[in-house]
Amino acid sequence: MAKARKILHLDLDAFFCAVEEQLRPELRGKAIAVGGQPDQRGVVASASYPARAFGVRSAMPMAQALRLCPHLIVVGGTRGAYSDRSRKVMAILHDTAPDVEPLSIDEAFLDVTILPESIEETARKLQRRINRELDLPCSLGGATNKLIAKTANTIGKASKPKDAPPNAITIVAPGDEAQFLAPLPIRGLWGVGPKNAETLASLGLRTIGQVAQWSEAALVARLGKLGGDIWRRAQGIDTRPVQAGGAAKSISKEVTFAVDIADDARLLLTLRRLADGVGRAARKAGLAGTIIKIKLRYGNFSTHSRQTTLEYATDNDTVIMKCAERLFLQSRIDDTPVRLIGIGLSGFAEPSRQLDLWGKAERPAESSEFQSALDQLRDKYGETTIRRASDLHYQPNDDNRR
Ligand SMILES: [Mg+2]
Repeated sequence: MAKARKILHLDLDAFFCAVEEQLRPELRGKAIAVGGQPDQRGVVASASYPARAFGVRSAMPMAQALRLCPHLIVVGGTRGAYSDRSRKVMAILHDTAPDVEPLSIDEAFLDVTILPESIEETARKLQRRINRELDLPCSLGGATNKLIAKTANTIGKASKPKDAPPNAITIVAPGDEAQFLAPLPIRGLWGVGPKNAETLASLGLRTIGQVAQWSEAALVARLGKLGGDIWRRAQGIDTRPVQAGGAAKSISKEVTFAVDIADDARLLLTLRRLADGVGRAARKAGLAGTIIKIKLRYGNFSTHSRQTTLEYATDNDTVIMKCAERLFLQSRIDDTPVRLIGIGLSGFAEPSRQLDLWGKAERPAESSEFQSALDQLRDKYGETTIRRASDLHYQPNDDNRR
């Protein structure tokens, strides 16, 4: 048998709030929320632990947060400071281990297998260093794989008192993976969305342990290939490597036109359709990305790409489209015919339902319900069943030279 790996998952505690407290020490220990203003339909990007004690959560409309916690201090956010601190944290991680996979601005996996000390010891040292050198609270989960390390961190953080940063360390020993997962609700398992959770519940399977005890063949019969993946994960098996450089995985869609197209309106319609496809593929895979990239290939085969990094991971068509459109307008060479256009999503992290953190936001719950209703209709009746009214004059079959 191969030697057990040692994988750490690191997550900064209420990161944006912790940075704001550094910038304005008078905020320390207070109920604060970073995010958009309530009168602009803003949402909470990050809530301090004293605010969480009142029920304030990320992705919650700010107006609702203020109802729960009337003395909440709303802070607009200082983007540059967040990326600066994030870079410093990542530098410490790289100084600790050769393989670091950033997941988002405040989260990363590390493979520390080659270090001689125990995984607990590495976790303690790392936490102490980030606490002391950067004055940031952080929590770590450790295990033999990414699935268990990340789940351990989530569970460890949640089990600490709610009124202060958890600064937790939670280690699952080799061999204890399945036992650790067993009592947890199946919805907490990576890749199990609300729809599959419902299917599993209808079979009487509510905990990860119950799924692990089922036969793999029976799950595959009910859920297809994903059934097999879910079964393996329920046993605590996850062979994914820690991928240095992070954005190794990506979801992308592109179209090569039958005839090169110079008309921006027509290109933007195609871009919108691609954004919908990328968002849908991400939601299906249970992924949300922080990096949105567009690719333009002109008639002369010169290829241009441009990307942007979001503060939060998204799987939302509208957010992907807005970013893609902005990138398109920034990189477009006027009137030059385009041969190929594409959108990619990468830098995967946990989905967060908020849209535009810094300004207006759609009501997150409403919009994700709408989104999953759309997904179901498209699954059932095909890609072109539901289209935006503005796209109706556009014939998707014009695309694709194949
Ligand atoms: Mg965090």
